[in-house]
Amino acid sequence: MARVLVTGGAGYIGSHTVQKLLLSGHKVAVIDNLSTGFKEAVPNQAEFYFGDVRDSNFVAEIMSKFDAEVVIHFAAKLNVAESLLKPVEYYDNNVGGTLSLLKACEKSGVKNFIFSSTAAVYGDSCTDGIISEGTPTNPLNPYGWSKLISEKLLSDTGDLVGINHVIFRYFNVAGAAEDGSNGQRTANAYHLVHLASQAGVGKRQGLKIFGTDYPTPDGTCIRDYIHVEDLADIHVLGAEHLLRGGTSATLNCGYGQGYSVREVISSALNVAENKFPVEEADRRPGDPASLVADSRKMQALLGWTPRRNNIDTICRTALNWEKTLSK
Ligand code: UDP
Repeated sequence: MARVLVTGGAGYIGSHTVQKLLLSGHKVAVIDNLSTGFKEAVPNQAEFYFGDVRDSNFVAEIMSKFDAEVVIHFAAKLNVAESLLKPVEYYDNNVGGTLSLLKACEKSGVKNFIFSSTAAVYGDSCTDGIISEGTPTNPLNPYGWSKLISEKLLSDTGDLVGINHVIFRYFNVAGAAEDGSNGQRTANAYHLVHLASQAGVGKRQGLKIFGTDYPTPDGTCIRDYIHVEDLADIHVLGAEHLLRGGTSATLNCGYGQGYSVREVISSALNVAENKFPVEEADRRPGDPASLVADSRKMQALLGWTPRRNNIDTICRTALNWEKTLSK
């Protein structure tokens, strides 16, 4: 049993991770400013502290009071388009938040740190679509840069002052808890599976396919969709790895298998109650043709095996969650 402090534990990935940590017998405290998260997503067994991670004295106080052994840092802004409109806010929140947490760790003696990063750090630097951790980084927007700069802050400082760390680079996170207890609550989240689920319950008129002339087998973009509960399990394993004294690492999180936009939509339509119309549209600017994770390093280091690596499972759980929200 460990004492785990989760920032952003009221958000989508954070709250699923809190559930899994509790199920594994760990004690959890959550810090969240509820700017995009939901208090009701945090299980009652977790301690909840309302506040901002950029207030490092506040964070250090909680770390000491809770006697945290490891921190998992999810709290961040994550909308690519918004980051282009509000770069300063993104750097302040994401880079400032990470720096503040590092200060708090130094002050209160927390030695283990897990960081939520993203495949957006790779940008379009990968030409064959399979991305390993050694693929050069080249973010295309302030969101991606804010994550890459935070990674550097953590790895550099961590190595020098002895904060062991795992950096997880997420590919396309989707789906909802299989028991129907949790899911994506942000109504304006713009990701494909979420939009398709909203269309599937009639909350949205239909869906557009952004680009059908990509150099892929069916002309639409390919992504590696990972189920949110599998990703949550990875975080539990990451925390346990660090608590055993495991080495610091940067690890891709995906299944190593891609699905095209057409394949995702076809799966979403299969489970949908509302058979929504689909329109072919122009490319969305900045979308690379194919992003698939080589996650063998993560699997080998943490001993993780995928359990929900099925696009139908992802679409079905996401749709069921949308139905729950509509009730
Ligand atoms: N996409 C789409 N229609 C939508 C939303 C997304 O065709 O309504 C495509 C998008 O262009 C990309 C893929 O689905 O090729 C995944 O996009 P998403 O925003 O979910 O994730 P990203 O990979 O951009 O982080």
